[in-house]
Amino acid sequence: MNARLICMALLFSATSHIFTSHAQTPDFPWPDGKNMALSLTFDDARGSNILNGIPLFDEFDVKATFFLVPNAVEKELAAWKAAAEHGHEMGNHTFEHPCSGNFPWSRHKALENYTLGKMEAELLKASEWLEENLGTKPRVFAYPCGQPYVGAGLHQQSYVPLVAKHFLAGRNWLNEAPIDPFYGDLGLLNGMEMDNKDFDEILTHINSAKENGQWLILAGHDIGDEGRQTTYLQMLRQLMEYVREEENGIWLAPMGEVAEYVAETRKAMEDTVNIPSLVRPDENGRFVLTAEKGRGVGPRIEYMADWKAFGWFTGKDQVEWEIEAPNFGKYQAILEWSVSDEEAGKTFVFETQGQQLEGIIKPSGSWETFKTVNIGELYLRKGYNKLIFKPKEDFGSEGALLDLKEIILQPIR
Ligand SMILES: [Zn+2]
Repeated sequence: MNARLICMALLFSATSHIFTSHAQTPDFPWPDGKNMALSLTFDDARGSNILNGIPLFDEFDVKATFFLVPNAVEKELAAWKAAAEHGHEMGNHTFEHPCSGNFPWSRHKALENYTLGKMEAELLKASEWLEENLGTKPRVFAYPCGQPYVGAGLHQQSYVPLVAKHFLAGRNWLNEAPIDPFYGDLGLLNGMEMDNKDFDEILTHINSAKENGQWLILAGHDIGDEGRQTTYLQMLRQLMEYVREEENGIWLAPMGEVAEYVAETRKAMEDTVNIPSLVRPDENGRFVLTAEKGRGVGPRIEYMADWKAFGWFTGKDQVEWEIEAPNFGKYQAILEWSVSDEEAGKTFVFETQGQQLEGIIKPSGSWETFKTVNIGELYLRKGYNKLIFKPKEDFGSEGALLDLKEIILQPIR
């Protein structure tokens, strides 16, 4: 293929972003055809969890998740151990429960004065303590006060990567919406407050999660009939009765169980679902621009799960990828495509800031036969780059350009 590298300034005219994307995310397949997932989580190992919560959950045969702080667990150690053995999930909530120094009670352990090293040591210390005393190693974590950072100002850093490294999932606090199972960051999952709420208020969240096939993680503290930071027994009872009705379509399970299912399902579906997402280099330094990670922009551009490829149906369709390059570098672009003999022969452009690779879509044999070809070399700058694949000429709305499975950017050293 006679691809050429053309350096041009002012490449990005006003033609893009006129159309909305046609990418469609399928419904997330919750187990047994359920419509949504629900997890009940409680923080701080408060005594009322043991006194009021566990007996109620056991009555309904429901397993909940408890985020524990060792010094609180010590007060009811035997009961917590029994709850763990009974199948309730025991999560990590740090050793010291550090929050912002804006809380007077946290001033001597303010997150503003923490570092990542200090936090990592504390997370591990809490997990070791819980494993030793309860016989189960925590797989999940909840951020004290919903504050996922250490340090302040120029020195502030997120500790979400530490949680992602040591746990299956981390839960935030006081968030506004349930979790989209395709998009939600398992290291920082939304947690919605259930303290001091009646069932009607919780039902609003359930209905919204159900409508969108989402995962609702409810978060509370004490469990009782009244009081500050208290999840009401009456609400929990009504909620569990509601969940028990099969037709309500709710999968109620501990946070770790749902997180594991979400992670496995995403992995199994990753090459059949189009979710535009930032591309980072693989272990060989290559950028693999799959159709699944591209953003279709145009009147009829379509991601076709059966072919794991984008199909082009008009001259105004294009696909964009966003990537983050660790360094400036030169790359060989390799296109994997298919096209019928009748539709072959149109010209394409693959471009990124000031550079264009052009070529002719050669016949691949048939729409079902995918082939690969080098289409030229280009430079990526360090940091953010956007790449666009599109027809060189507008061929109108008759015919097709190609089916594009992926473009690999192979580093040239
Ligand atoms: Zn807490």
